[in-house]
Amino acid sequence: MTLLEAHDLHLSFGSTPALRGADITVREGEILAVMGPSGSGKSTLLHCLAGILVPGQGEIHFDGRRVDTMSETERSSLRRDRFGFVFQFGQLVPELSAEENVALPLLLAGVRRSKALTEARAWLGRLGLDGLGARTSGELSGGQAQRVALARGLVARPRVLFADEPTGALDSLTGEQVMDLMVGSARDEGTTVVLVTHEPRVAAYADREVIVRDGKVLALTAEAVG
Ligand code: ADP
Ligand code: MG
Repeated sequence: MTLLEAHDLHLSFGSTPALRGADITVREGEILAVMGPSGSGKSTLLHCLAGILVPGQGEIHFDGRRVDTMSETERSSLRRDRFGFVFQFGQLVPELSAEENVALPLLLAGVRRSKALTEARAWLGRLGLDGLGARTSGELSGGQAQRVALARGLVARPRVLFADEPTGALDSLTGEQVMDLMVGSARDEGTTVVLVTHEPRVAAYADREVIVRDGKVLALTAEAVG
């Protein structure tokens, strides 16, 4: 069943076209890899699907709702209530501890602080970070920080996790650990994942793969690539 789909997306940054008629379909529960060279429009496509950017032209539908015509407030609620995010550089809030970072999405959703922190610690434990909750990002290795970011992306049980080059800043072994945890958790939770990467090794974790080139989604490979 289709959960998220976009049709004929166009978006330019000034005179630079980033999307030029992109179509994509994301099925409920799948891990979809979005591949393609640097500058091809992968991040822009992810930002449109996630309601962060509004395309200049085209339609986006999530779970029966039209995303591209929503107000900023509606898109912001949609992101908070339904979507989780992991970016290349964890982007943890440096002043907050690991568990406070993980608790943030729950606090924004109105969960009381003690409950949010308990949930956050449980997620840190699931991702192998027991006992590291009090550390700030400066006191964590790159791989640990990215696992904290993953915990933060999943703690509010999103319908869709958007991951943009989630292992791009990690060495290959640490990247594999992060991908194993991301895929394992997503499968356990039934979370749909849109995984942007230019690394074939990372895309191999996905159920299906699409390729972006020059702002268009070019090719669909066979059903299973991983
Ligand atoms: P990818 O993620 O595949 O590397 P992007 O979606 O980031 O590609 O970028 C697509 C195109 O849009 C590139 O030409 C890039 O330089 C341009 N671009 C992306 N973001 C911006 C921005 N904020 N301002 C101006 N140009 C941008
Ligand atoms: Mg990118």
